[in-house]
Amino acid sequence: MLAVEDLHKSYPTPQGPLPVLRGVDLQLERGGSLALMGESGSGKSTLLHLVAGLDSADRGRIHADGQPLHEMGERRLAEWRRCGVGLLFQQFNLVGSLTVADNLAFQARLAGRHDLAWQARLVERLGLGDLLHRHPEQLSGGQQQRVALGRALAARPALVLADEPTGNLDEATAEQVLQLLLELVAGSGSTLLMVTHSPQVAARVQRTVTLRKGRLHPGPDAPA
Ligand code: ADP
Ligand code: MG
Repeated sequence: MLAVEDLHKSYPTPQGPLPVLRGVDLQLERGGSLALMGESGSGKSTLLHLVAGLDSADRGRIHADGQPLHEMGERRLAEWRRCGVGLLFQQFNLVGSLTVADNLAFQARLAGRHDLAWQARLVERLGLGDLLHRHPEQLSGGQQQRVALGRALAARPALVLADEPTGNLDEATAEQVLQLLLELVAGSGSTLLMVTHSPQVAARVQRTVTLRKGRLHPGPDAPA
């Protein structure tokens, strides 16, 4: 499903280029789930952005769902962003001017996928039926993240990329959202790549890797 080879990325700074990824290799099978750990600033979000097609690498290859992202032009990359990936962020990132219903429909409509039965199941399972006409600012954090989860999955993307999806939630709400994320990702046949700081959260998925000094290492964060 996902094959990353020798990926390099640096950012320009006034002191010269800041190397963040220095030869990242990663394989993730279809339907698999992977936790990505690593210290703050180690490049986890950078790696997710590259896989999402939101930014481009300096060097290396990314094959996602059989497609070579590193060779694709802007038009096909835009299609990958629209149809291939579902994104979930720590800060929810809902569209404030849209109702819950429109936030949910947005991604599916962009992707041209109107699986209404699947979308109804999402609304039901996420407990959003009574919230459809509200706006994001009228919702709790947990409710907002449930809407964001529905939006991420609405078009049944091949790959779900979650960047600390429970990092902003209290423990009980985090557990509820995590449970829904894992259940619905499995139910949609998607593959999951999830950034987390929590060993407990990482333990709930199939495999954990840690980004350290620009490379991936198997297993969770080494204890300090
Ligand atoms: P993480 O998600 O693991 O905390 P990031 O991928 O966000 O790490 O950032 C990795 C490093 O790259 C950090 O030092 C960060 O300051 C730097 N960085 C991230 N994005 C940019 C950017 N757009 N421009 C310059 N530096 C950046
Ligand atoms: Mg980050």
